[in-house]
Amino acid sequence: MTAVQPTPKHQKSKALKPGSRPPAKELCSECGLCDTYYIHYVKEACAFLNQQIATLEESAHGLSRNLDNPDEVYFGVHQQMMAARKQEPIAGAQWTGIVSTIACTMLDRGLVEGVVCVQNTPEDRFGPMPILARTKEEVLAAKVNKPTLSPNLSVLEQVEKSGMKRLLVIGVGCQIQALRAVQKELGLEKLYVLGTPCVDNVSREGLQKFLDTTSKSPETVVHYEFMQDFRIHFKHEDGSIEKVPFFGLNTKELKDVFAPSCLSCFDYVNSLADLVVGYMGAPYGWQWIVVRNQTGQEMLDLVTEQLETQPVMSRGDRHAAVQQSIPAYEKGVTLPMWAAKLMGVAIERIGPKGLEYARFSIDSHFTRNYLYVKRNYPEKLEAHVPEFAKQIVSQYQLPES
Ligand code: FAD
Ligand code: SF4
Repeated sequence: MTAVQPTPKHQKSKALKPGSRPPAKELCSECGLCDTYYIHYVKEACAFLNQQIATLEESAHGLSRNLDNPDEVYFGVHQQMMAARKQEPIAGAQWTGIVSTIACTMLDRGLVEGVVCVQNTPEDRFGPMPILARTKEEVLAAKVNKPTLSPNLSVLEQVEKSGMKRLLVIGVGCQIQALRAVQKELGLEKLYVLGTPCVDNVSREGLQKFLDTTSKSPETVVHYEFMQDFRIHFKHEDGSIEKVPFFGLNTKELKDVFAPSCLSCFDYVNSLADLVVGYMGAPYGWQWIVVRNQTGQEMLDLVTEQLETQPVMSRGDRHAAVQQSIPAYEKGVTLPMWAAKLMGVAIERIGPKGLEYARFSIDSHFTRNYLYVKRNYPEKLEAHVPEFAKQIVSQYQLPES
C-alpha cells in the first residue's frame, strides 16, 4: 500500500497591504496575486515582471506555439476553433452565456468543487468582487463582464484553506499567466482554466471617463462591447442599444484612459487557458471558441448539446486598415460623427470578417502596445514582448521614435 502524500508545503509571504505600491508598480493589472500569500512568487509569476508565455504554454498544453504556423502565431496553441452560440442564451450574460453555462455544468456534474469568478459589488454594477463560487446561483450572479481591472486571484488563499482539490478558474490573460505560474503550489488534484480574450481594460475611474466621454447616457449603461461591426454597442437599463462608431471615439481624451498594464499586454487571446470563449473571431452575433488542449475539449463537450455551432471563417485583408490606423492613433485623430458613421458603414461592408477581424484587432493593439513599451519601458522591450508578437508587429512600418 502506498502512503498518502501530504500536500506539498509552499512558501508564503505577507500579502500586500491595501494602498501600497505593488511589485509591478504602475504596470500592475491588479490581478489579485499580491493580495494573497502567493505574493512570495511574484517575481516569477507576474505577467508584467516576467513574461514567460512560451514556457508556460509548454507546461499547460505540452507544447508552445509553432511560430511557423500563422494561426498559432495569432491565436496560440489550439486543437480546434469554432463559432458557437447557445440555443437558449442566458438573459443578461455578456454574449450568450457559454462561460457561465460551462461553469454551472462543471459544478453540477461534480467535476469541480468551486469556481473562481467575479461578481459585482452591491453598490456598483461594474465594481469587481471576485468570489470562490460553490453553487450555480453564485456562478450565475457573476455573469456579464465587469469591464475593469479585477483582482480575481485574490481568492486563491480561500481555495487552499477550504481544502478543495478540484477547481475551475475563469479569468483574463494576465490573471491566468500568474495562476499558471503558481499552479503547482495550490495543492490541487485538477485545475481547469476557462479564459476570455481581453484588451484595453481600465481602472474603475478610467471606465467612468470612457462612459462619460462616449455614451449619451453613461449612468444607465449595463453592458457594452466593441463589436465586429466596428461600433461600440452600449446596452442601457431599459434594454435599448446605443451604437457609437469606433472611428468617432475621442482618441485624444481617451489615450490615457487604458491601464498601463493593458497598453503593454501581448496576451490578448489568453494563451494559457485550456478553453477560450470570446467573440472576435466569429461572425457578428456569435461567440468564438478556441480549444487549446484535451482538458479544454472535455469542458466544451459538457455543453455541446446546448450549442449551435459553425466552422470559423475568414474574409478580407486587414493590412492596409491596420497600417493607416497607426498614424491616426498617434495623432489622436477624431472624425466628426457623420464621417465616422459613413466610415463605419463602408468598412463594415468591405472590411475584415471572422478570423481576419480578430487579426485586425490583434495587429492594431500589438502595434500600439509595442510602441508604448518601446517609448516608456525601452529596457523591458526585448524580454517583455513575446516572439509571436514581434513577428506580428514586424509586418508594419512603425514610427522610428
Ligand atoms: P458570461 O456567461 O456572461 O460570463 C462572463 C464571465 O466573465 C463571468 O464568469 C465573470 O466571472 C468573468 N469576468 C467578468 N469580468 C471579468 C474581469 N474583469 N476579469 C476576469 N473575468 C471577468 N472577447 C473578444 O473576443 N475580444 C475582446 O476584445 C474582448 N475583450 C474583453 C475584455 C474584458 C475586460 C473581458 C472581461 C472580456 C473580454 N472579452 C473579449 C470576452 C467577451 O466579452 C465575453 O466575456 C466572452 O465571450 C464570454 O461571454 P459569455 O456570455 O459566455 O460570458
Ligand atoms: Fe502582483 Fe498581479 Fe500586480 Fe503583478 S499584476 S504586481 S502579480 S497584483
